[in-house]
Amino acid sequence: MSEQQFLPFVKPTISEEAIAEVVDTIRSGWLTTGPKVNKFEEMLSKYHGDRRVLCVSSATAGLHLVLLSLGFKEGDEVITTPMTFVATLNTIIQAGGKPVLVDIAPNTLNINPDAIEAAITSRTRAIIPVHFAGLPCDMDVIYDLAKKHNLRVIEDCAHSIGATYKDKRLGSFGDIQVISFHPNKNITTGEGGAIITNDSALLYTLERLRFHGIDRNAFNRFSKAGSPQYDVVMPGFKYNMMDIQAALGIHQLPELANFIEKRTSLANRYLEVLGDWEEFTLPQAPQYAHSHAWHLFTVQLKQNAAGLDRDGLINAMKAENIGVGLHYQSIHTFTYYSREYGWKPDDFPNSLAAGDSIFSLPLFPTMTIDEQDRVIKSLEKVLKK
Ligand SMILES: *Cc1c(COP(=O)(O)O)cnc(C)c1O
Repeated sequence: MSEQQFLPFVKPTISEEAIAEVVDTIRSGWLTTGPKVNKFEEMLSKYHGDRRVLCVSSATAGLHLVLLSLGFKEGDEVITTPMTFVATLNTIIQAGGKPVLVDIAPNTLNINPDAIEAAITSRTRAIIPVHFAGLPCDMDVIYDLAKKHNLRVIEDCAHSIGATYKDKRLGSFGDIQVISFHPNKNITTGEGGAIITNDSALLYTLERLRFHGIDRNAFNRFSKAGSPQYDVVMPGFKYNMMDIQAALGIHQLPELANFIEKRTSLANRYLEVLGDWEEFTLPQAPQYAHSHAWHLFTVQLKQNAAGLDRDGLINAMKAENIGVGLHYQSIHTFTYYSREYGWKPDDFPNSLAAGDSIFSLPLFPTMTIDEQDRVIKSLEKVLKK
């Protein structure tokens, strides 16, 4: 058999129309924030039940701005999950908050909603649930708690654009959501992100913090309709999205439903084929009604199958020319956080166990059945089945 090409665990799907729009944008002479970003924001708003949307340079930037806008005082606490990307934690810290972790539920790998209340103190200001892999958290429970304790809820929707919770699309209800358009995510603008909220006071601050604290946007300043004068009302950041990025997004969003359909059928096939493998624990569905965005297909390896631990399995698959992702090592085990917050490995046992055994199989809209079969055959080979 000839050497097979490396199959990455993720690949963006970019249409020729999207590429042409990027080229047109560059040729138009307006490269940065302008009409394309405005259009993409309008499309995202319509997609999320007409709630207000602000595009930013990344989801990390979006989380940073939202958390800064909440104006933490020394010692203010933000509750989140240890099973997430480090951006969730870093932005809490950069905004002057103290991260407080609540362990995951082992079946959903989402923050355990029933364990949140015990972690709430007089200093708690916000909860950041992460819809892990695209599976919605139990938002009714979380919003009830937030209401009871007067907390903000910032949903980290980096994995979950397009998912629904009890027949409502995530982002179409609730307090604040942040989406990512990183190339690994379900739709992409290269780098990019968006904030969704209907809180007008928050929107005022976010809009200014996004661009130097200036009270009017660059497009107005430099177009014929605008004027060059401006005022600065707060020391802001440079977190705006470019029109070059939005040109991609404008073509990605209409394809999202199709992308999720492809992801779902591949995920269902993984579930079907791997369902009776005793080596694996597969993603499980919670009780409440939902649709999954299937950003990731994560598998947990039960104790050292065929003499391989998780890292051994990732390496063995790589030798078979199959890329396998790692989402995520539990964040409480990383050097900085464990030192700074005194977290011990056993403090969050469910996340620790998941983080030590989890890996992500290739899953992307253009992945073929043949490619999926290659993944399955390679798993059989490395596990000596
Ligand atoms: C990717 C990701 C982010 C950060 O998104 P960027 O757009 O890359 O900044 C935040 N949270 C989670 C859970 C992510 O997966």
